[in-house]
Amino acid sequence: MVSVSGVRGRVGDGLTPEVIATFAAAFGAYARSRGPGKTVVLGRDSRVSGPMFARAATAALQSVGCDVVDVGIAPTPTVQLAVEDLHAAGGLAVTASHNPIEWNALKFIGPSGMFLDGDEAAAMRAFLDDIPRATWDGLGGWSEDADAVERHLKRILAIPFLDVEAIRAKRFHVALDCVRGAGGTIFPRLLEALGCTVDAINMETDGRFPREPEPVAENLKELEALVRRTGAAIGLATDPDVDRLSLVSGEGRAIGEDYTLALASMLVLRHRPGAVVTNLSTSRLLDDVAERAGVPLVRAAVGEINVARRMQAESATIGGEGNGGVILPDVHLTRDAPVAAALVLQLLAETGESVQSLADGLGRYEIVKEKVARPSQPLDAVYDALAARFPEADADRQDGLRLDWRAEKKWAHLRPSGTEPIVRVICEAPTRAEAAELVETLRAALPS
Ligand code: MG
Repeated sequence: MVSVSGVRGRVGDGLTPEVIATFAAAFGAYARSRGPGKTVVLGRDSRVSGPMFARAATAALQSVGCDVVDVGIAPTPTVQLAVEDLHAAGGLAVTASHNPIEWNALKFIGPSGMFLDGDEAAAMRAFLDDIPRATWDGLGGWSEDADAVERHLKRILAIPFLDVEAIRAKRFHVALDCVRGAGGTIFPRLLEALGCTVDAINMETDGRFPREPEPVAENLKELEALVRRTGAAIGLATDPDVDRLSLVSGEGRAIGEDYTLALASMLVLRHRPGAVVTNLSTSRLLDDVAERAGVPLVRAAVGEINVARRMQAESATIGGEGNGGVILPDVHLTRDAPVAAALVLQLLAETGESVQSLADGLGRYEIVKEKVARPSQPLDAVYDALAARFPEADADRQDGLRLDWRAEKKWAHLRPSGTEPIVRVICEAPTRAEAAELVETLRAALPS
């Protein structure tokens, strides 16, 4: 599967070293075409197939004259920061992010440290047809960079409003689950620097995920039990490439990944009021946080790069996605789980409140998702008809159709799938019954 940010597949079933090498070579040629630089940073999460694909990508990059700087097993945000720090022409992360163990993927990073956007990815793919290979005297080199995680940590601890001493003084007891992903390279060091006592599980960086690796509440039973058993004040769970963070309350309850960005934003807005950016499918918990702080909430199309670009345009203070992806421009314009963890710990330190009481203070919404058959008529006409059918709702057409009934605190977002003949309908409302009812209302209003 080829998307804007990368190429993804099941290992040995679609995704082979040949596929990875072809895309890595095209990416290297593209990166070299954009300027004099020829350094490309390469990193990977902990998946079993990672070393094989990293070697294929390395050879391919060298074959087009790129000098590879290998950061080894590292969080994706660490790889992205290394691209910036080393003034590289680009970066490649070998990671399938939160996807199950049988998947792997290649993600493409531009010289800014941000993922390629749609136009850049199209320009990169144009090289797939005719990859300019180097001759023997033009091959690229290879070197290791063992300090990328250390630099990333330093950058986090230097966030201007992060009061490291205040967090250390609290001596937080933290339970941690890194699902045997790349989080083991950075989270223990971050929490040690923040003076926490840590009870950790799944810290081996061997990619043998003991559970489904996506950090959604239903996958965090073991962490919930660890919090209860150890009496930790908070549980932290990240995905294999460490760009998403989920929280477990001190009562041992996974509170849902929507709360990560909401709580991190609460903290940041206390220090620095400014625009918040998220995507069209993120919970309206964030609308409430922005409203209370008196700042605008701006919604961008789904996809991390769309949120990041919009944050640039709005000079946003903080942004991200409801899936636990927090973006803090003080560090960089990409989702970063260690950044999110530091912000949440500071919120606990500043307010003296528990995770549960902070979450309770934000209130609760319910999201219901459904797939419906794609209507035969053009989707633009379908969206026009729906917007006309519900004139009381604010309509947003930048990515599918989003209808927002602000007074009733509910919304619906319709987007076509890129891979199946379906439209995804996602609805949020104060109760599950209302959200489900909204899904049914929209389904009934859709032409067949
Ligand atoms: Mg991820």
